Amino acid sequence: MTVLKPDEKLIAFEKDVKAGPLAINDAFDLYFVETQTGHYKLIVFMRVQFFFEEGNGGKWQAQEKNQFINQWKSSIKSMWGGRLLKTLKKSKKRISIEFRFETQIDGFMFDHWEITVEKVKSFARSYVNPRTGNVKLDSLDLKLTRKHANHSQKGADHEFGHMLGLKDEYLDDNPHNKDYRSIMNSGATILPRHNAPYMKWLNNTLKEQGIQ
Ligand SMILES: [Zn+2]
Repeated sequence: MTVLKPDEKLIAFEKDVKAGPLAINDAFDLYFVETQTGHYKLIVFMRVQFFFEEGNGGKWQAQEKNQFINQWKSSIKSMWGGRLLKTLKKSKKRISIEFRFETQIDGFMFDHWEITVEKVKSFARSYVNPRTGNVKLDSLDLKLTRKHANHSQKGADHEFGHMLGLKDEYLDDNPHNKDYRSIMNSGATILPRHNAPYMKWLNNTLKEQGIQ
């Protein structure tokens, strides 16, 4: 699969980005490109292998599997992508972020992540294991669900934060545990701190390339 579009000029890439505190699993690839408009894009690319598991919601139909993957992709792309990361001081050029995926059901794949989705009637426990590269979701994780007073989120959008290497912020020992709007807490807002998994690489790349 070609990650880049024909009008995107590759400036730098990194294919060994780790996620999570243990930093073991190769979590995603990064591409820094210049677009036709003269502005820049950071592309986060993930190869994801899906497995579908029967649960108390019954069996998956082939069409339902594809529908889940398509909705998962569009949810992540609209929630996590399309954001401005920074405007360069000197040139005033903008750097935005985009997420791209290569997905497959079953079979064999040199993937970054394996996601198993259980078909359920009520929510099951979802989690991300950054050590093994395994993710567990359920068929309701694409549904907007109230998590705290006025804050709702889709489980899949939150779990994706873990796939980037971010930690839960609702835990007692987290300094952001009262910031309920946050995607890593109970809400659906992506905040500047959530860009940490790729900003260091991006800033180093800008420095190395003399892009200001
Ligand atoms: Zn979590």
